[in-house]
Amino acid sequence: MGREVRRVPLDFDWPQNKVWEGFLTPDRLHEDRCPDCTRGYTAAAEWLQVFASRMDMLGSDIADQRRGRPLHPWLAQDSYPPNDAQYQVVRPSEDILDLLAGLTGESKDRSLHPLRGGDGYRIARKIVEAAGLDSKTWGVCPTCNGHGSIEKYEGQRAEAEAWEPSGPPEGEGWQLWETVSEGSPISPVFGSADGLAEWMSDPARGDRWVPGDVARKFIDEGWAPTGVMSFSQGLQSGVEAIGWNDKA
Ligand SMILES: [Zn+2]
Repeated sequence: MGREVRRVPLDFDWPQNKVWEGFLTPDRLHEDRCPDCTRGYTAAAEWLQVFASRMDMLGSDIADQRRGRPLHPWLAQDSYPPNDAQYQVVRPSEDILDLLAGLTGESKDRSLHPLRGGDGYRIARKIVEAAGLDSKTWGVCPTCNGHGSIEKYEGQRAEAEAWEPSGPPEGEGWQLWETVSEGSPISPVFGSADGLAEWMSDPARGDRWVPGDVARKFIDEGWAPTGVMSFSQGLQSGVEAIGWNDKA
């Protein structure tokens, strides 16, 4: 969990564990959902992407066959798959790799890599282009122009793009914040760095307890990264790692 120290007014009373309002896009800037699509594509384009991703899976199946793994259920349970004489589903042959390499512009080996990302979008785009259509306009929802949402009023999108988050007010107090969400306070406000260090090293905090000198060093540095790896200590919380790193 990423944490940082913020200097806020002593009477700052924003609730703990609640994201500071200045960090969140205000409701008035949220657009309406498009009534005609979910992601900015027409239904035809959504279907094309389904078929293109199934084609992509045929390439992955070559690797699965070589590793002795079964056919992916989405392919195995197709309603009208190619069958052999015994009416068993036949798995794709290796020439599918040539077809996919031609469609994606990648090497034949790419389909065999277990950690590659899917190529469905590239395959779909190539098919659209083969049809003589512009892949930048065909399949784009005309209602929302591909945004997936529509402005509540003219200029709302530009306003949302210009919007910038603003931090809490500054002051004399010391407070611990988490930075994993957009950012929320996770301690009371203290009048001194020592007060916050004492709170952080209170054994009553259970597994979030940190030694007093570590807490003080963390406050002095102001910020600790989420989970830092230390070879001697294993994975420790960022707050503790700063104490061990002993950066001068
Ligand atoms: Zn739309």
